[in-house]
Amino acid sequence: MKKRQPRDFAPHISPEKAPPCNIEGCREAGVYKAPKSREQLEEYIWFCLEHIRERNKEWDYFAGMQSEEIEAFIHDSVTGHRPTWSRESRLRDNYYTLQDKLYEFLNGSKPTPQKPRIPSKTRKALAVMELEHNYTVKQLKSNYRMLVKKYHPDANKGDKNHEEKFKEITTAYKYLLQQLSEK
Ligand SMILES: [Zn+2]
Repeated sequence: MKKRQPRDFAPHISPEKAPPCNIEGCREAGVYKAPKSREQLEEYIWFCLEHIRERNKEWDYFAGMQSEEIEAFIHDSVTGHRPTWSRESRLRDNYYTLQDKLYEFLNGSKPTPQKPRIPSKTRKALAVMELEHNYTVKQLKSNYRMLVKKYHPDANKGDKNHEEKFKEITTAYKYLLQQLSEK
């Protein structure tokens, strides 16, 4: 197994030219630059090696890293162990998992799971039928009966709005029934 090498921290400028480290009380030369803030990425402040490392850990650690390195960092910080890079784990921890982990690491909580994408036609039909997307045949049929009773033209003396609604219900019902049989 290949051991992960520590990151190469080549100084950005020579110690003679460097300003003092930005950390108060530190007497080292600030040979490493870091953006002032996320909003001021073009403006730099200068740190010694020890303090640039601390700063990077705080907020900029992931910038410029490869996804594998980020993953390793997260893995390290979560388990306290050196990561083992098996081919399987690389395949398993795909990009999206990594994104979730990153989100969790940076925000301290898991991302809210994405709702399954429902086609708009289905969403509309579900709204008409007053159903959730995980509906059953039983619920569909029961809601259909209920709505038909409510909007049937005979029950509303030819009210135009109700006639439209009745058509909508019938179309939605047939559509959702068909969707179920295709699942
Ligand atoms: Zn320093």
